[in-house]
Amino acid sequence: MTALIWLALDGVGHPADALPESVWNAKLPTLRPLVEAGLALDAGLGVPGLPQSATGQACWLTGQDAVRYMGEHFGPQPGPTLRRLLDQASWPVQLTRAGGRAGLANFYPPGYFERHLQRPRHGCFPYSVLSAGLPLNPPDLPPVLPTLGLSYAAPWAPQHPLADIAALGEALARAAAPYDLVMCDLWLGDLIGHSGAPELPSASLRAGQTYLQRVDALLEGLLAVGAKVLLSSDHGNLENLQTKSHTQARVPLAWAGVLSPQVSDIVEAGQWVGQQLELTSTPSLFDPPPS
Ligand SMILES: [Zn+2]
Repeated sequence: MTALIWLALDGVGHPADALPESVWNAKLPTLRPLVEAGLALDAGLGVPGLPQSATGQACWLTGQDAVRYMGEHFGPQPGPTLRRLLDQASWPVQLTRAGGRAGLANFYPPGYFERHLQRPRHGCFPYSVLSAGLPLNPPDLPPVLPTLGLSYAAPWAPQHPLADIAALGEALARAAAPYDLVMCDLWLGDLIGHSGAPELPSASLRAGQTYLQRVDALLEGLLAVGAKVLLSSDHGNLENLQTKSHTQARVPLAWAGVLSPQVSDIVEAGQWVGQQLELTSTPSLFDPPPS
């Protein structure tokens, strides 16, 4: 099985639900057509409130309705309830159990491990990898900075040239060969999205556009060497920089090298991810946790 490479965007709503002046108005020759050819999915799941990262990502990572399981939209990191769901049902856990290979290509600096030694508060992607008994910073994958070479803090100035990112995509696709699933937890979009304000801050808009151009370059590199790719998002935020909160926007599901999914929300999309890995979600796990 060729590795499925999963670019998991955080907080990037679909362009169809974006403001007229948005981060999507940028030169995105690879990303934009792929997203337009893909699907716009519901992330609200009929539950009041704004979609959040932990429940949204847990839906993608298990194919189960993590919002109903949790009783509300919840985030940014999973608490005990969602961690229990991920422990039992996340794709990295199920894949490892089935003898397959999953990896998270994100680079984590030493400071990350120091912070989490005291009080572990991993997001769903690193949590599901650790819960599967797999390492962060796997030595055989090229380290992917979740900022894709921008600075971690506002105004998110470029620190690495854009050309490096396409090369990184190619290197990642090649290094992924022994894997079934390689994930990139790309959370900078949500961070930039939280800098929104009613007057639409131009620095945030520029940073968001620069960031998507880097996602575009990563995708270009992956596709140049024929990778099987899935691009997702957990909830809206960055597509509307006139608010600093998350949004009800639909989220993109885009793909290359796999059969088209027929799904309408992020739970069904999560199930589809499992099918690509020849795994199935386990409906019995959906029972609400004991209170
Ligand atoms: Zn957020």
